[in-house]
Amino acid sequence: MASRVVDILLPVALDQAYSYRVPDGMALAPGDLVSVPLGARTETGVVWAENPSPNPRLDNRLKYVDERLDLPPLAPELRQFVDWVSDYALAARGMVLRMCLRMGEHLGPARERLGVRLAGPAPARMTAARQRVLALLADGLARPKRDAAEEAGVSVGVVDGLVDEGTLETLVLPPEPLALPVDPDHAAPDFTPAQQAAADALRATVAQGGYSVSLIDGVTGSGKTQVYFEAVAETVRRGRQVLILMPEIALTSQVLDRFAERFGVRPAEWHSQLTPRKRARTWAAVAAVAAGTAAAGREVSVIVGARSALFLPYADLGLIIVDEEHDPAYKQEDGVHYHARDMAVVRGHIAKIPVLLASATPSVETEVNARRSRYRRLHLPERFGGQHMPVIEPIDLRREGPPPGRFVAPRLAQAVHTALERGEQALLFLNRRGYAPLTLCRKCGYRLACPNCDAWLVDHRFNRRLVCHHCGYSVPPPQACPHCAALASFTACGPGVERLEEEAASLFPGTRILVLSSDLVTSVERLRSELAEIEQGSVDIVIGTQLVAKGHHFPKLNLVGVVDADLGLSNGDPRAAERTFQLLHQVIGRAGREAGRGLGYLQTHQPEHPVMRALVAGDREAFYGTEIDLREASHYPPFGRLAALVVSGDDKHAAQAHARRVAQAAPHADAVRILGPAEAPLALIRGRYRFRLLVKSPRNFDLSAYLRQWMAVAPKPKGKIRLEVDVDPQSFL
Ligand code: ADP
Ligand code: ZN
Repeated sequence: MASRVVDILLPVALDQAYSYRVPDGMALAPGDLVSVPLGARTETGVVWAENPSPNPRLDNRLKYVDERLDLPPLAPELRQFVDWVSDYALAARGMVLRMCLRMGEHLGPARERLGVRLAGPAPARMTAARQRVLALLADGLARPKRDAAEEAGVSVGVVDGLVDEGTLETLVLPPEPLALPVDPDHAAPDFTPAQQAAADALRATVAQGGYSVSLIDGVTGSGKTQVYFEAVAETVRRGRQVLILMPEIALTSQVLDRFAERFGVRPAEWHSQLTPRKRARTWAAVAAVAAGTAAAGREVSVIVGARSALFLPYADLGLIIVDEEHDPAYKQEDGVHYHARDMAVVRGHIAKIPVLLASATPSVETEVNARRSRYRRLHLPERFGGQHMPVIEPIDLRREGPPPGRFVAPRLAQAVHTALERGEQALLFLNRRGYAPLTLCRKCGYRLACPNCDAWLVDHRFNRRLVCHHCGYSVPPPQACPHCAALASFTACGPGVERLEEEAASLFPGTRILVLSSDLVTSVERLRSELAEIEQGSVDIVIGTQLVAKGHHFPKLNLVGVVDADLGLSNGDPRAAERTFQLLHQVIGRAGREAGRGLGYLQTHQPEHPVMRALVAGDREAFYGTEIDLREASHYPPFGRLAALVVSGDDKHAAQAHARRVAQAAPHADAVRILGPAEAPLALIRGRYRFRLLVKSPRNFDLSAYLRQWMAVAPKPKGKIRLEVDVDPQSFL
């Protein structure tokens, strides 16, 4: 009798599952994790399906499954989610599965820790170091050996010596838990009536269970976080798990602190900077089936994570929250192209659980869904504590701009002075890293550009280098112009945050200035400590890129000056207006959150632009009204669907020719319009020439299916040519 065959999906760049034979007596079911031979190596895969009728011609070539791994199986809903994402995003199924199996190689029981405690008489020979260890351990409690040495200020050798003498004994300590149990009733706040109504609605949503999407729509500082914590509490009470997605996990320390205040403990975290061991332990803890009564028996009941946390194999996920749902960081632009907010809604739908989206400036897509009642809107109209929204004034750079070579207009400088005199903080916002975006030769006009990209080199004086923001290429500033050989002829054009710091130091001497920019941040810890310094008021002027725009609560900050409000408007991106509105609204929303009235200044060349007008008038509805009409008229999302195809290669003509052949192979469909191929706005990145095709279809059209048909007949890229498909593109560069 032929042996049983199953199809196993492997985390490699392939769409189909492979067939393997099951050794007699091995119990296997769909979802089980197994190790299997793949070529010369061993891979971890997941049983995707039974294969009742394997191809008889292959039968005797099929390999056997090595072993079934002792890990919880991937739940049917997660497998369904993998299939769904792969179909939708045209990504290889195996690559989507790979995102679920990011446990690394450190699985297995948590590392045991060796502890020491007092056990016998004092040693014959006493030293000061030994004395300190004994004093520390005099309480008779066991401590990890390293901790004991560190706390006593001695080397581990001193502790070992005392063990050898029999004064101390060693013992095995249980592994440190990843997170302590969340206490849903630790410290619930007293809610305002509007908050209470929203919190009640969310508790009811969780209690009722099932799929639904709610938008928590409230101005910055209205208590959205506090309110969604009630949904977290209710889910934990029911013994189920919660995923809170954050756009940029490094920036979420305040949320973690607030979580700790509300629930008594910090939640587990998931992001790219976890150590391999912590990653493996977190993965395993998330997947572990709860022992005993659910809530108490679970090591991890709440995860705060970056977008990749959406693919973890939760044992019993009961709620997904997407904080700052409008944030562009939710879109993954390499490997599997997916939007974590949209896929969170999909996962919620498949798992039949509620999804909560929170934002003060919802994406146009979400706003339309709320207006059409596909999503329920929970409105928090006011700031907690009765604080008003900041007053916003435009500064027309055409009429009252700064003197040449300067970037802070006199009126904004005056406002900063006033804030400082009052002992308040000021934030100067400029979404530009480095010292200057462009360096040119005064003699011949030569501009320093990246050799690999279609981009200028950005002057980073802090590191004394000129850097390409697209590929990371960098050089020290040249002595002479490469074009005309003039010496010391280079001049910086335009501002970056480092240059703004120079200007602020001369405008406001004696103040404490902190620049927050991603390239100056060396670690998550460093960033978190800098944010804490601002929060505690030990900084007077903050100069920052979009890193400061998000979610922070700085009690002493009442003034925000936007140095170049027009920066994001002119880049040909269909979402430019939306992005600019959201970013500027968020950043000015940092002002006036606690005491005093917040004040925002927008330095702009176009104060009549609808985005500036809506911001100044504090009229969010006006902005959405205009923007939604525009999208509808032009059939842009969410009223139509888009996909981008990017063909790239190191040879320009070959890339272009391939892009043309791909375009010619497009199946005919009345509903679909194909634009291009055209040279991409960023025509060269990392030495690769790029051509773009944009595919437009009506909303109710299955664009993914169409693209799949197309890709099946399109010529396959050869050599160094690559073709990337991006469904629902967010970037148009
Ligand atoms: P949002 O998420 O809308 O920006 P938060 O939930 O972060 O707002 O709340 C803003 C600030 O107000 C936080 O410091 C928060 O602790 C505080 N806050 C909000 N609601 C309450 C409440 N009902 N009781 C006490 N403090 C609150
Ligand atoms: Zn470059």
